[in-house]
Amino acid sequence: EDTIVEVPSACVEGGIVRIGGKEVVMMAGPCTVETEKQLMTTAAAVRKEGAVILRGGAFKPSTSPYGFRGLGEEGLKLLAKARDEFGMAIITEVMTPSDVAMVCEYADILQIGTRNMQNYMLLDEVGRTRKPVVIKRGMSATFEEWLLAAEYILSQGNRNVILCERGIRTFEKATRNTMDISAFPLLKRLSHLPVLSDPSQGTGRRDIVGPLSLASVAAGADALLVEVHPNPDEALKDGAQSITIPQFRELMPQLHAVAGAI
Ligand code: PEP
Repeated sequence: EDTIVEVPSACVEGGIVRIGGKEVVMMAGPCTVETEKQLMTTAAAVRKEGAVILRGGAFKPSTSPYGFRGLGEEGLKLLAKARDEFGMAIITEVMTPSDVAMVCEYADILQIGTRNMQNYMLLDEVGRTRKPVVIKRGMSATFEEWLLAAEYILSQGNRNVILCERGIRTFEKATRNTMDISAFPLLKRLSHLPVLSDPSQGTGRRDIVGPLSLASVAAGADALLVEVHPNPDEALKDGAQSITIPQFRELMPQLHAVAGAI
């Protein structure tokens, strides 16, 4: 039987968002929480267009140690403030086992990033909670390795697991990663877990986040995780892959049209 992950979200009727059900769920927000104004502006805009879950990184796995690594707990507090204001559930990354309890105090969904897909101590720790967990595909992971990583969480008793395709490493340099669209229909055959698409990390390019979002939904994605920024050219992190608020506004009706057609 397919797993449906339920997330409390005050902004929807009945107060529960179901991931893996009939509706495609939109999770959107900034790559990284930078300031209260940036977060609140983005949250207001994405909520208005129909997003029900707010994304935002507070603990960032930066490729360079000199890059912006997030506001830490201060960022989590701002996310909680946005939840109070807009009623959206919060998804944010947790990077170490020792932070799990603290991140759980603020987050509705824990995100395991691509770099930590095989951090087994971290997987065990989030598995001991009962919070929904998004586990991103390791950038060079096979489906089998990814599903076994998810199994670490499930085997600790946490059944609320969502798989996230976020692109893999290939020889191609035109995109940051290569979105593996086959993940959506294939994982529906290989697993009972809901599948989420991250076309922002998956492409690294604002101009093709929209088409890849539509393709993911057409291929069977249950939900989307999209980076949106009020002024991406000035973003402290990953501006190139963050879409603008007008682009997000344009994308939502297109997604409804694709979801309605399948
Ligand atoms: C993110 O979503 O903020 C992120 C860092 O993603 P990934 O782990 O896929 O690189």
